[in-house]
Amino acid sequence: MQLVGDFNWIFCQIVCNLAALPLYMNLNSSPFWLRALFPKGLVWSIPVNRPEIFLTFDDGPVPEVTPMVLTILRKYNVKATFFCVGENVQKYPEIYEMLAKEGHITGNHTFHHIKAWKMPHSDFLSEVEQCSLLVKSRLFRPPHGQINRKLARLLHPDYKIIMWSALSCDYDMKLSGIQCLTNAIQHTFPGAIIVFHDSIKARERMLYALPLYIEHCLGKGYSFRTLE
Ligand SMILES: [Zn+2]
Repeated sequence: MQLVGDFNWIFCQIVCNLAALPLYMNLNSSPFWLRALFPKGLVWSIPVNRPEIFLTFDDGPVPEVTPMVLTILRKYNVKATFFCVGENVQKYPEIYEMLAKEGHITGNHTFHHIKAWKMPHSDFLSEVEQCSLLVKSRLFRPPHGQINRKLARLLHPDYKIIMWSALSCDYDMKLSGIQCLTNAIQHTFPGAIIVFHDSIKARERMLYALPLYIEHCLGKGYSFRTLE
């Protein structure tokens, strides 16, 4: 039994480290070989019959950024899905309420934006639970994309685990806004899930790339839908 336990632990460490690969390598899409390393049943794109894309924002809501994102989305009449950090929702409930009021959807992104591989599974699940008291949603996105088979199995009865088709990489301070825009455009296809961040760290690049990205997609005949 000890051997099985050791193997499981080693496997979890390997998977968790691989799960962070997109960040280490700045992979801005989710190629098949990367998806194959993750547990089954995660959502990387949505099957659609029309040219629809799914815009998502992670890590808010924060007063310095989220209202500006809402202004941009309002201008183009675009609806999006916001994966919210519980402690931000607790600090800024009025901004969180604006998301729903303006027709956007919210998802759970844990209470403190913690890394799954830095804590026991039970603690990670408590983080999700704590966030769920404020964010009523069946959508969950693991911070830093870190998830393993066991966590996915434990979360699946209650949550759809949403990953991504393309990262704009707007959180990467080494990139320019144009590079973030290019990242998002290059990996957009019908049914794609695109990630931007309504965080202070990503603000400059996101605010540059987002309106241009939306204009590009609308010009190509895409429409935007929320996850459900
Ligand atoms: Zn995040």
